[in-house]
Amino acid sequence: MASGKINVSVENIFPLIKKFLYSDHEIFLRELISNATDATLKLKHLSNIGEASGEIGEPIIEIKVDSKKKTLSIIDQGIGMTAKEVEKYINQVAFSGAEEFLEKYKDSAADSGIIGHFGLGFYSAFMVAEKVEIFTKSFKDEPAAHWACDGSPEYSLEPHDKKDRGTEIVLHLDKDSKEFLEENRIKELLNKYNKFMPVPIKFGTKEETLPLPKDAPEDATAEKITVDNIINNPSPAWTKQPSDLKDEDYNSFYRELYPMQFEEPLFNIHLNVDYPFNLTGILYFPKLNNDLNIQKDKIQLYQNQVFVTDNVEGIVPEFLTLLRGVIDSPDIPLNVSRSYLQADGAVKKISNYITRKVGDKLSSTFKKDREAFESKWNDIKVVIEYGMLSEEKFFEKADKFALYPSVEGKYYTLEELKEETKALQTDKEDKLVLLYSSNVEEQHSYIEAAKEKGYIVLLLDSPIVSHLIQKLESSNENLTFARVDGDAIENLIQKDEATVSKLSDEDKEKLKPILEEIIPVEKYTIKLEALSSSQLPFVLTQPEFMRRMKEMQQAGGNGGMFGQFPEMYNLVVNTNHPLVEQILNTKTQKKRSRLIEQTLDLARLSQNLLKGEELTQFIQRSVELIK
Ligand code: ADP
Repeated sequence: MASGKINVSVENIFPLIKKFLYSDHEIFLRELISNATDATLKLKHLSNIGEASGEIGEPIIEIKVDSKKKTLSIIDQGIGMTAKEVEKYINQVAFSGAEEFLEKYKDSAADSGIIGHFGLGFYSAFMVAEKVEIFTKSFKDEPAAHWACDGSPEYSLEPHDKKDRGTEIVLHLDKDSKEFLEENRIKELLNKYNKFMPVPIKFGTKEETLPLPKDAPEDATAEKITVDNIINNPSPAWTKQPSDLKDEDYNSFYRELYPMQFEEPLFNIHLNVDYPFNLTGILYFPKLNNDLNIQKDKIQLYQNQVFVTDNVEGIVPEFLTLLRGVIDSPDIPLNVSRSYLQADGAVKKISNYITRKVGDKLSSTFKKDREAFESKWNDIKVVIEYGMLSEEKFFEKADKFALYPSVEGKYYTLEELKEETKALQTDKEDKLVLLYSSNVEEQHSYIEAAKEKGYIVLLLDSPIVSHLIQKLESSNENLTFARVDGDAIENLIQKDEATVSKLSDEDKEKLKPILEEIIPVEKYTIKLEALSSSQLPFVLTQPEFMRRMKEMQQAGGNGGMFGQFPEMYNLVVNTNHPLVEQILNTKTQKKRSRLIEQTLDLARLSQNLLKGEELTQFIQRSVELIK
């Protein structure tokens, strides 16, 4: 038997490791299973190139809990180690590695930006165990070895009679780590970190019912057998070639990733590069609902099929964190802070690549099947609009496939809209005005009026639409957007050049002071216009600029620098409406005020501006009028 002192200057390194990674104890299992996987894959490789003799069979990894002995074992059938290799790889590499690790991270330990996962390797076992044993037999024809260490720098190493090839790591769990003796806790960990690892992992057994043979009698009972309970899928979809996968395969992988998710994804994007960096993965566009925050951070990051984190901030551009799926890349440095990550050249390239692939996929879907694309637009628009605002490169691409639906549900690209609107607005100046509504119900009367004049009215109702409009206007000279109930449309739709005012100029002079007496001028700017008589007597519009600034302020944009905006409206008085004429001709002061108040309230009502006490008063007044 050999024994000796491990070469470390830190007297007792393990308490340090424990303390250091306190919050992340559970990763020990991932690390040990990763080692077992490596050992298995190495053996397969050696066998393939003819350096390991004999049949290797179908090696698996097994996890075993013994609650009596308070041990957790990780057993593999991989290459194993000779006693010499244990000396070399476990004693020297591991312990010097631990020291190096502490040296490297002692300054950054306080930095909360550190990702909580380091390639800690074998010695992470000491985060949960007071004693660790290794039983290992190399694939080479050499005796097995038994190594044991209780966390002090003393270890023992002796021959062992283990016959079968591979390594068994036995953790004698310390008193603070009893949770890892619970079956459900281990299942949870295996499901989180090892669900897609490349070697089958067995944890316990399960009963399986055999199918009955076709000619079985009716009263026959199906036979039950006990089989290994394999917890992982060793070849997940993202490791396959896109050409070998059908839509169903992508969808069933989505369900594997999110078993609680019942909706099908809308699109998938298969990522697959090996130069200048290595990255595979599948991203999905889910059906989003309005609560965007809880839907974030669903993308899982893997390294060689080992789960690392579901926080991909800095790796995936912000707007794509609403997507779901898997990214697997060994080239993303993980033992660094997030801010460093964002500045890292390789990570930037990865982020750009992902953005480009998403853009390309959307673009090709749009071209291939526009109808399907349109049908999904409402569910994906937030991501696309958000991307257009935040990533210039994405904007350039998305500008060609971003859709703007009309209130009737017809979808246009910006280019198509410009064409159609140009045809409509030939007689006007060269500035194109695109009309839009943010709420079909509330802006109904304005929409009808615009449609009557042959205009296309868009329905733009996503939360960041004012920012997007601002962006589109600044990148398209000669293009403005105007909400149907805004002031910009007064010229476009309400004032019909052919309509002459029925009121004489003299009458108009008289009308103005009559109105101003009743209507608060600090809130309403009164304008007399000859609209068609089919329009309302009073029409309220809000200055586009002011409303937009307000909206951006609410959406948390840069409108904030203008301070709080007052509620200001334009009150357009339709001089061609009989009611306006009636107002002018009513002699009794009281009756006239009533008419004006009532007409103003009707205009406000049509804008959904009449609420609370004012609404009650309006209703009472109306009852008085008709009784
Ligand atoms: P790393 O895995 O990063 O190399 P570790 O400290 O986890 O570092 O392991 C050190 C070495 O010990 C490994 O490189 C490997 O050679 C050996 N080793 C660890 N676990 C096993 C195992 N289950 N089977 C065979 N060799 C192993």
